[in-house]
Amino acid sequence: MRKVITAREAEELLRKGGSAPPDAILTPSARDILQGHARPGGPTGARSTPAPGTQKEFVVPDYEFKWTPGSDPKTAAEVERFFNSPAIQTLKQRICDIGRRIWEKDYVDGNGGNITVRVGDNLVLCTPTLISKGFMTPDEMCLIDLDGRQLAGTRKRTSEAMTHLGIMKRQPKAKACVHAHPPHATAFAVAAVRPPTCMIPEAEVFLGQIGYAKYQTPGTPENADEVGRIGVDHQAIIMENHGVIVWGKDVEDAYWKMENTDAYCKTVWIASQLGQGLHTFSPDKLKDLIDLRQKLGMPDNRAGLKECELCDNSEFRPGVVCQVSPHGEGAGAAGEKPDPQVEALVQQLTDQIMKQLTAK
Ligand SMILES: [Zn+2]
Repeated sequence: MRKVITAREAEELLRKGGSAPPDAILTPSARDILQGHARPGGPTGARSTPAPGTQKEFVVPDYEFKWTPGSDPKTAAEVERFFNSPAIQTLKQRICDIGRRIWEKDYVDGNGGNITVRVGDNLVLCTPTLISKGFMTPDEMCLIDLDGRQLAGTRKRTSEAMTHLGIMKRQPKAKACVHAHPPHATAFAVAAVRPPTCMIPEAEVFLGQIGYAKYQTPGTPENADEVGRIGVDHQAIIMENHGVIVWGKDVEDAYWKMENTDAYCKTVWIASQLGQGLHTFSPDKLKDLIDLRQKLGMPDNRAGLKECELCDNSEFRPGVVCQVSPHGEGAGAAGEKPDPQVEALVQQLTDQIMKQLTAK
């Protein structure tokens, strides 16, 4: 008979540095633990150290929730079973953990902010309305479909879920969204300033270019359309006069983008106070970073742009100067590389004018 391994047995196996027999049947939470998807001992437990010599390879845990297309639960009973399954319970706890982190970072105040995780073709877990993100419990989470209809959960879903769904409907890679009002990035949103580029390499790789969505009333279809449209190409979006929404392959990944966005805006803001203007790296160096970002499987709408378009920081006011020399090496806002066709046209016009002048 095949052995069934429970979560507790999986933790015990990990502690002893052993592995499950190849034909063993794993419960979903045991599978999570053995694949590194869940921390042994629950969300607050510490990962145990394997016995010396038993660690075979380094593995980056993958928290992305994967499902078989077409396998969404259909009947009310199926939906309820799915909503209370160990895998979904783990995700609900993870949403609460991220809520705590955005609250502790001062990214949200009052009942602000919201979090979603896509868990099926037409299924999304989301936070309820009117709740502090710092003190949520798994039993307060909601299950909705991609049109925002509530399928499970005792509390009413957040109205801002519609904005998250606007992104998820258009960008299948967006498996989780986090919305918050982090003060530094929100200051850019209130000042209607797009954060500049070509300043910090890690931001270019892990965040990409920060998108900018025009103001629409939060929770309305207009806001969902505007943000959804921008979200196709941007993982972090500043919502004018409102805050920030980010997406990632899982809720931890999305949260990192929130931290990246606010830290980036904070650094740029502080640097702009130093009185020296801001130094940018050159667009050819940015191209290397965009390549790296794409190799990591993250979208970047700048991949096809010319170098001179890559460091267009003209909208950012505190004294950003393009680093490209106006005299040849590369091109930029301060001086485009001469276009031979334009040069020929200018020469032709000059010749005509000179001809007319000398004819008189
Ligand atoms: Zn908001």
